[in-house]
Amino acid sequence: MASASQPYLLDITPELAEEERLVHASAADFCRSRLLPIIAEHYEAGTFPRDLIVEFARMGFLGAPLEGYGCAGLNPVAYGLTMLELEKVDSGLRSFCSVQTALVMWPIFAYGDETQKQRWLPAMARGEAIGCFGLTEPGSGSDPGSMRTNARREPNGDYVLNGEKMWITNSPIADVAVVWAKVVEEGRPDPVVRGFLVERGMQGFSTPEIHGKLSLRASITGSIVLEDVRVPASSMLPGVSGLKGPLGCLTQARYGIGWGAVGAAMGVYERALEYSKDRKQFNRPLAGFQLTQQKLVEMHNAIGKSLLLALHFGRLKQRGKLTSTQVSWLKRDNVAMALDCARTARSILGGNGIMGEFHVMRHLCNLETVYTYEGTHEVHTLAIGRAITGEDAFT
Ligand SMILES: Cc1cc2nc3c(=O)[nH]c(=O)nc-3n(C[C@H](O)[C@H](O)[C@H](O)COP(=O)(O)OP(=O)(O)OC[C@H]3O[C@@H](n4cnc5c(N)ncnc54)[C@H](O)[C@@H]3O)c2cc1C
Repeated sequence: MASASQPYLLDITPELAEEERLVHASAADFCRSRLLPIIAEHYEAGTFPRDLIVEFARMGFLGAPLEGYGCAGLNPVAYGLTMLELEKVDSGLRSFCSVQTALVMWPIFAYGDETQKQRWLPAMARGEAIGCFGLTEPGSGSDPGSMRTNARREPNGDYVLNGEKMWITNSPIADVAVVWAKVVEEGRPDPVVRGFLVERGMQGFSTPEIHGKLSLRASITGSIVLEDVRVPASSMLPGVSGLKGPLGCLTQARYGIGWGAVGAAMGVYERALEYSKDRKQFNRPLAGFQLTQQKLVEMHNAIGKSLLLALHFGRLKQRGKLTSTQVSWLKRDNVAMALDCARTARSILGGNGIMGEFHVMRHLCNLETVYTYEGTHEVHTLAIGRAITGEDAFT
């Protein structure tokens, strides 16, 4: 027998400050009314809705957690809630905002000098300049220390960059790329990793698009090819050297993914719940079968726990206490949870589950990328394993 239903038994609203509630409500409204209606079409066509960039900017999504330079200055929980709402619609749209914010604006903010900040941050917050982050290479993925991209210092102080970056979100439309390269520096026996701001139009810099993706289709992905690209010394990010530079950026981005994944899981769970109440087989709604209820309960409970983890870690981040290993935990477990939910939701929708208009298969395909990028599931397992055992199992 049917009775009143309540899709979520956990409500974090009482734990949120007024500002966080307002940010969340306006992000949810924008994503539902503006993004959801157009996403399936873009996904199928394999196009990124570029006209939305200015709207993302107007919503304060670009550089949201940064202070000053035209950025919204959101606290970590409010920022996380915007990521959740974006990814409830599509991981590719969230990826666009994550890359712009956490992988490009954040390193300029954290490692750049004032001239670099003034030059890029306000324009990027307004969506007038787009950025990308080049770490991965054809031969260097989980092991970024093996990168081959290099920067040679010239007698006049310029640097000349050579190498290739692969799988770079937004690279074909980027005005500026944060490129991580190995530099031979005086007084240091080994080359050291440094970040460079490489601009569109510089000779020898190109960003061919990667076609044929069956995941994250509403996000543009490309390579970065660097053929004797000469950049002035002023394009180097002065505030960091070594792998901790790119890894610091990834920690920022993974934090957002930890929240975003909860959104993707909520998206597929809500679809499956609604569908199971409408669809009848054997003269009763799918929701009335014990096996379907078990699937819904597993999803519901897993989402609640993941949300609590995100909220708890968000509060730690607000107090400056969140560690990179905790962020590995958040990214790893919440993405795996979302992927499980997407598979389960797909099964509840039966044949309709594979159709674009039901928005589940798209999440499932997207989450396969999210499972792998920003540190694979396995690599985060090793990071957490190292922290709890003291044993390094990476190599
Ligand atoms: C759509 C998309 C967008 C992306 N955007 C960006 C971007 O904007 N910028 C950027 O720099 N990169 C980006 N990436 C790259 C992404 O971060 C890498 O794909 C990821 O780091 C994994 O590297 P890889 O693909 O080379 O896999 P590999 O490192 O070759 O790993 C393959 C498999 O081996 C496993 N493995 C590797 N090492 C170990 C180990 N020590 N122990 C156990 N298992 C191991 C991995 O977990 C994985 O399962 C993107 C990727 C995709 C697909």
